[in-house]
Amino acid sequence: MKKLFIEDINPENQKIILRVDFNVPLKNGVVQNDKRIKAALPTIEYLSKKNAKLIVMSHLGRPKGKKVPELSLKPAAERLEELTGRNVKFVDECIGAKVKDQINDLKPGEILVLENLRFHKEETENDDEFSKELASYADIYVNDAFGSAHRAHASTHGITKYISKAASGYLLKKEIEYLGNALKSPKRPFTAVIGGAKISGKIEVIDSLLPKVDHLLIGGGMASTFLRAMGYETGKSLVEEDKVETAKKLLEKGKDKIILPKDLVITDILDFDEGVTGKIRETGSDEIPENMKAVDIGTSTIKQFSEIIEKSQTVVWNGPMGVFEIEKLSAGTFKTAKAMANATIKGCTTIIGGGDSASAVEQAGLSDSVSHVSTGGGASLEFLEGKELPGVEALSDI
Ligand code: AMP
Repeated sequence: MKKLFIEDINPENQKIILRVDFNVPLKNGVVQNDKRIKAALPTIEYLSKKNAKLIVMSHLGRPKGKKVPELSLKPAAERLEELTGRNVKFVDECIGAKVKDQINDLKPGEILVLENLRFHKEETENDDEFSKELASYADIYVNDAFGSAHRAHASTHGITKYISKAASGYLLKKEIEYLGNALKSPKRPFTAVIGGAKISGKIEVIDSLLPKVDHLLIGGGMASTFLRAMGYETGKSLVEEDKVETAKKLLEKGKDKIILPKDLVITDILDFDEGVTGKIRETGSDEIPENMKAVDIGTSTIKQFSEIIEKSQTVVWNGPMGVFEIEKLSAGTFKTAKAMANATIKGCTTIIGGGDSASAVEQAGLSDSVSHVSTGGGASLEFLEGKELPGVEALSDI
């Protein structure tokens, strides 16, 4: 990556403002899952050990420019204190006189966490004055928030205009290198596994990956639009009628690469919120009855997909293979996760592109058994689409 990295700067006694992604789930003021905080620890530990005066900022949820007490970053600051064993200070604002006073009191090696940036609408508006004010708090800016790197916000983009040095942290660098190397110089065979509810959010990813991959395996709800494009009856499955033509074109373009499910798990009733299904059975992909819908990939497809994954040298996966939140419909997704883990043992580089596939791999207890689980669903998707991420572009060139 041709961007300034924290190891290229001298943090000693410097005020460093660090953007992290502490967008963690909270319940009654307690952090429910701290993986995003843990993911930022290498950068935080490095900077505080090097005696930086560290100012940590993040967003949490969508308070839409208002102070929402339930979305305070205080619980995340408390969790950071437990994880680092250091004294972590917290200030209940992210801008203004109180923040300046606390920063002036910071001693080398100390950490101050600011309140949720999105309590001010200027953050998401990438407001110049707000960006300038954040920049004025420090000598150096470091971005380690991969999960927000696809957004041009004040703390990920605007701030870099008003500070002389803008560097990446360990997490941001690692994410970009894993995804970047997979796309630029993958060990072959290179397989992409794409799933999830709808094809509409993934067309650009498929389009951009097709020329690069050897195999593109398609599962999840979006497979139904492709099956319709093949001329099959899809019953009540999730088909996006207005995308059938696009699916046809993609099938043509990727005729030697795209593999669709040959069998599926189907049901007549699916109440997602209640977790209720009707009768469940397997069927060939070209035999879905009128009153049934596809909800997972079938046994033969799982076997075929797993074999391809386990014979690959690079695999990128984004989107579940079925409605994995309901246990009876989770086999396709969890067995794909298992195949990714098996491939990793054989030396394959396996990358999970964040979001629901990352949750699935975590639920399967396999997060440590694959090469890389991205912390950014939206950001990794945009990266795979071949887009520049504004938060990365804005960092200082070297
Ligand atoms: P996405 O955000 O597009 O990656 O979609 C993730 C969602 O797709 C998950 O909540 C899954 O339950 C859902 N999903 C996966 N397969 C299907 C399917 N066959 N029908 C409906 N929803 C599905």
